[in-house]
Amino acid sequence: MITRDQLMEFDTADALAPMRERFHVPDGVIYLDGNSLGAMPRATAARVAEVVAREWGEGLIRSWNDAGWMALPGRIGAKIAGLVGAPEGTVMVADSTSVNLFKALGAALAARPERRVILSERGNFPTDLYIAQGLAALLERGHSLRLVEASEIAGAVDEDTAVVMLTHVNYHTGAMFDMAAITAAVHARGALMLWDLAHSAGAVPVDLAGAGADLAVGCGYKFLNGGPGAPAFLYVAEHLLPTVRFPLTGWLGHAAPFAFEGSYRPAGGIQAAFVGSPPILSMAALEVGIDLALETPMADVRAKSVRQTTLFAELVAQECGGHGLVEVSPREAGRRGSQVCFAHADAYPIMQALIARGVIGDFRAPDILRFGITPLYLRFVDLWDAVAVLREVMESGEWQQERFRVRQAVT
Ligand SMILES: *Cc1c(COP(=O)(O)O)cnc(C)c1O
Repeated sequence: MITRDQLMEFDTADALAPMRERFHVPDGVIYLDGNSLGAMPRATAARVAEVVAREWGEGLIRSWNDAGWMALPGRIGAKIAGLVGAPEGTVMVADSTSVNLFKALGAALAARPERRVILSERGNFPTDLYIAQGLAALLERGHSLRLVEASEIAGAVDEDTAVVMLTHVNYHTGAMFDMAAITAAVHARGALMLWDLAHSAGAVPVDLAGAGADLAVGCGYKFLNGGPGAPAFLYVAEHLLPTVRFPLTGWLGHAAPFAFEGSYRPAGGIQAAFVGSPPILSMAALEVGIDLALETPMADVRAKSVRQTTLFAELVAQECGGHGLVEVSPREAGRRGSQVCFAHADAYPIMQALIARGVIGDFRAPDILRFGITPLYLRFVDLWDAVAVLREVMESGEWQQERFRVRQAVT
């Protein structure tokens, strides 16, 4: 039997507890959606205001040089590299995750020209699948996206598979792949491995180089707390960099952008992955989030995350049994990312009722209640209080009110 007092004791003893003060968490909110949009670091507002007023307002175009704007994406890329086990010069920050998927997939297909299949799991995040479908159609060379169940991936790689594209932690269930094992199986059949780290970077330890990953992308606005629509990142393994060819060839990926030459010549290394001008205001906000993430060793974040996801699942079982919430996240902590998910036929109105009470998680179609766990700003006692609200919402039936069934554009 878990008690609220016990969780308060965990908070008192928690070495990560002071990190919460570094974020703005609104009063009356228990935030369980940092896997969708991370909370705002307190330092972000002042940093962005400074960039707006001083660097843009006063410095104007001089700031591309004087304020180091041009170097900013490279600097942030180097910091992210440190979070995902990537060597120097293999990570760049730009564009959205979707656009970086396009670039990475295009690079993979160019590196395996004799193979035609992009292999992924049926339950992958839709944008990953859509981007693969669009690229295959654009190439008009018989490429296709093949989808299998997650458990069938390793066995489905064959001599026509150019690249296997997987999201390390599944957005829907929180299930986490064994990155090194899958990558080795994919390599054994001569295909390349592309990992999407959207729900991993800043949430679970990742060792891209150690696992032998060829390509990776990741998201800046989830566990990295970079702000809405924050730039994303792209990783290319050192062995691919000398020959890598990207399908988007913009001026900032040119060997000499300010020579204004008439024909494209790729820059060396990861630099060739740049397309157009970096969004400086968003980059400034992202850097604050990354700096904050770098302050705590990933192993400590993971240890607290595992405790919190485990406790949350146990609390729901303890307090809300009999209400038809079916846990769909893996029970085994080692196979679970930093979220806990439950299936329920009325997941949408239940989540809306929770949000109306200040317990913010999210709904994922068709029937998933998703609770993201962000150890840097989530207290143990928040777990108790969130589950207490869930219990009230279920027992009172207040989620059945008509207003909670109205579908919003963003769920
Ligand atoms: C969040 C997420 C994305 C987001 O893509 P955007 O281009 O930033 O909208 C992509 N892939 C996965 C797996 C995600 O979880």
